[in-house]
Amino acid sequence: MSFTLHGLAVSGGIAIGQAHLISHATLEVSHLVISPRLVDKEVARFDAAVQRVREEFAQLKGRAQFSSAEFGAFIDLHMMILSDPELAEAPKHLIRERRCNAEWALVQQMEVLVHQFEQFDDAYLRERSYDVRQVVERVIKELVGQPGRMALRPGPGKGIREENLIVVAHDLSPADVIAYKEHHFAAFVTDVGGSTSHTAILARSLRIPAVLGLHNARQLIRDNEVLIVDGTRGVLIVNPDPRVLDEYRLRKSQIELERTKLRRLKTARSVTLDGIDIDLHANIELPGDVANALDGGAEGIGLFRTEFLFLDRGDMPTEDEQFEAYGTVVRGMGGRPVTIRTFDLGYDKDLHPGKVLGDRIQSNPALGLRAIRLSLAEPKMFQTQLRAILRASRYGKIKLLIPMLSQAHEIDQTLAAIERAKASLRAERVPFDEQTPVGAMIEIPAAALAIGMFLRRVNFLSIGTNDLIQYTLAIDRSDEQVAPLYDPLHPAVLMLLAHTIASAEKVAIPVSICGELAGDANLTRLLLGMGLRQFSMHPAQILSVKQRIMQSNCAVLAPIVRRLLRHEEPAKIREQLEKLNSLS
Ligand code: PEP
Ligand code: MG
Repeated sequence: MSFTLHGLAVSGGIAIGQAHLISHATLEVSHLVISPRLVDKEVARFDAAVQRVREEFAQLKGRAQFSSAEFGAFIDLHMMILSDPELAEAPKHLIRERRCNAEWALVQQMEVLVHQFEQFDDAYLRERSYDVRQVVERVIKELVGQPGRMALRPGPGKGIREENLIVVAHDLSPADVIAYKEHHFAAFVTDVGGSTSHTAILARSLRIPAVLGLHNARQLIRDNEVLIVDGTRGVLIVNPDPRVLDEYRLRKSQIELERTKLRRLKTARSVTLDGIDIDLHANIELPGDVANALDGGAEGIGLFRTEFLFLDRGDMPTEDEQFEAYGTVVRGMGGRPVTIRTFDLGYDKDLHPGKVLGDRIQSNPALGLRAIRLSLAEPKMFQTQLRAILRASRYGKIKLLIPMLSQAHEIDQTLAAIERAKASLRAERVPFDEQTPVGAMIEIPAAALAIGMFLRRVNFLSIGTNDLIQYTLAIDRSDEQVAPLYDPLHPAVLMLLAHTIASAEKVAIPVSICGELAGDANLTRLLLGMGLRQFSMHPAQILSVKQRIMQSNCAVLAPIVRRLLRHEEPAKIREQLEKLNSLS
């Protein structure tokens, strides 16, 4: 039967392929009945899996010196949970009594234990139910033979190539999507997630179509069913009839043709009709993305989200590992500027849930110990990163970018930490660029409103509209239920952008936008009219934005945008934007 689902269009293009269902291990567990003669073997299989996870924990603990003291405590807690007879012994009784498979027995026991934890009055103890689930996930993955990250099912069946597979998942974490960089799927769709969630951002960086927030696609779709993903309109068609399939094949080839045409602009100068040069930089997550950035025509890296380097590993990277990664990017960009942002860990990005933040209670992680707040709370981790970044400056032009600053004392503390890192390198006679510029991300409304204290302290600004919109409108950027309220054109958002850009311009401090808004060609003229001269976006978006820049005249746009900004009525703002975009 053919049917259509609608979700959030997060990464454009059209893919046609077969469904490849994925989910987290505990969701996948089915109930099997074991023959009596295999019961002992099943118990032994369970014991072996628990033992392997125990050994893995011991190994991780051995490496805990690379991380905070809390990391060791976190491993101890998980070891304790794993040794609890409710998890280590009770499932074996269930296997024997009910002749069931080990996975199912373990999940039954997990539910019992989680329920017990959830009954506690104490918030700390209640939160430990999360750790129980994590420990069980690990054992299940061992049982199904896929330790480590999420249960990515075995590759495609016979005769099906990965390029023809469309990943269908309930949810994907940023770490899962990072793992997909090693694969070549045609597209992916999920039940949950917002359009500027990190999962969505990574989907765009994979350059494959993606639709998120489809609610119950994972339940409705069967493995190997034929799917059409329209990532531009946010549509998923399941089992399309031949007529629809033909129509989408045609549209797919049209999109490819348009992309080929755009590619001719790769070496064209990014300049407006009235001769103003506009910097177009790329956002990257991994050193391997440098090739895409150059291929997309980027003149520099405007945002290197360093935290993604390490999301799918269990420990913190050493200074040398980081130096190697940053150096690779800087050398790869061959003298072009590279803006390296210090870790933005926390919120939806943690090495593995709980591993960096440990057991600090996070009742509201978007407002909690995230980004620079976490770096300042973990001075050893921060110094390691700062030293590695500064050391890499010997290979080219590095700019140091700090996420989520909101207070003057945070900026001062950060600048002092940078000075300490520099002093230690000097003492060791390690070469680095003494003039490395330091910039602040403006992504908290308080920072945009009190911009003067930033302008007096840093060398450049980069506006993170993804978070700025989230915090201005109190809309969780990764929650599809409130996604329709996530409005980049809200008058309050526009006021903050215009105020930041104009204030920076007055004192000649360079300002760029590196949030997703910068890559939306429909907003290019609006931003040019506000005075923005530097944009940073995913490499795949650069050429369409460049095309719009080359068709725009800043002198004409500026007065129209000033008028647009006087409106507070959303309908009026949209009407004015359409006019702006239809100017020839
Ligand atoms: C932003 O918030 O706009 C931004 C660029 O950073 P991130 O998406 O990594 O939070
Ligand atoms: Mg941000």
